[in-house]
Amino acid sequence: MRRLRAIRRAARHVLRAEQPIVLMYHRVETLAADPWELAVTPERFADQIALLTAARRVVPLSWLAGELAAGRLPRHVAAVTFDDGYGDVFRNARPILEAAGCPATVFITTGALGSRAGFWWDILSRILLQTPALPERLDFSLEGTPRQVRIGADGADRMAALFELHALLRPAAPDARDAALAELAAGAGTDADPRDRDLTMTPDQMVAMASSGLIEIGAHTVTHPPMTALGRDAQEREVADSRRRCEDLLGHPVTGFAYPYGDHDAASVAAVARAGLTHACSVEPRPAGRGTDPFAIPRLLAADWDAREFRARVLAHG
Ligand SMILES: [Zn+2]
Repeated sequence: MRRLRAIRRAARHVLRAEQPIVLMYHRVETLAADPWELAVTPERFADQIALLTAARRVVPLSWLAGELAAGRLPRHVAAVTFDDGYGDVFRNARPILEAAGCPATVFITTGALGSRAGFWWDILSRILLQTPALPERLDFSLEGTPRQVRIGADGADRMAALFELHALLRPAAPDARDAALAELAAGAGTDADPRDRDLTMTPDQMVAMASSGLIEIGAHTVTHPPMTALGRDAQEREVADSRRRCEDLLGHPVTGFAYPYGDHDAASVAAVARAGLTHACSVEPRPAGRGTDPFAIPRLLAADWDAREFRARVLAHG
């Protein structure tokens, strides 16, 4: 009985190993605080890519999406993706990928490309987690409504406050969010400016990164909104404008898209298809399988894990 169970377990593992996996990264950088698990250190990233390329055939996402769209499930393959377009992907990830000959796709938030504005979630987490002393409460207003968030004595509730504010600010209009961040920063005794290491890559860096053909570029909206908070027209604009900006810079077609925060609905899928894109990534943490919709390709988060944890949490999948 036990033997039979072991055989079944092994068979299940073999079957799973045939399912394609798509990895999701954001940053390759060493950060003081990383509440959203966005960053992998360059050393660990090099280790993870070595493990991945040894265990799987790493293919371009666009190729895998074409196979899925044709109803085929290629065996023992993986694809690597990055969201947002951080500068450290150009500085730190690109050399490692090129040395390993590992294909990857970078989804660009085009409104942030080359901007000095930074991403709001990085500014928020710096205010909350990296300001030495915070008051017990921060007051601010959002879209005309007065708000407050509890930080607790000696910052005891910093992390809870961070998650509460993230949920509140995520669907807000960019201007309203920036105004709220400025108030929060003033209350915390700091500024709401981004730090250099948190900035996005420049348009020239994006083009240079894609020039070897190993790294492909995908679109990730203009302003990084949760898509389902937008009406149909606004969703279409975010998709089509970000795609066009990438294509204008690259001079060749862009076919892939990733939903910000993974957030999407039927209207988002329709917007992606209408813009002429052929595939899109979600953030559902599982391997691709038979029946995977090319417009909602699931992805596994790859966080700052050592070899043992990377094997268990990524390579054991699929
Ligand atoms: Zn994103």
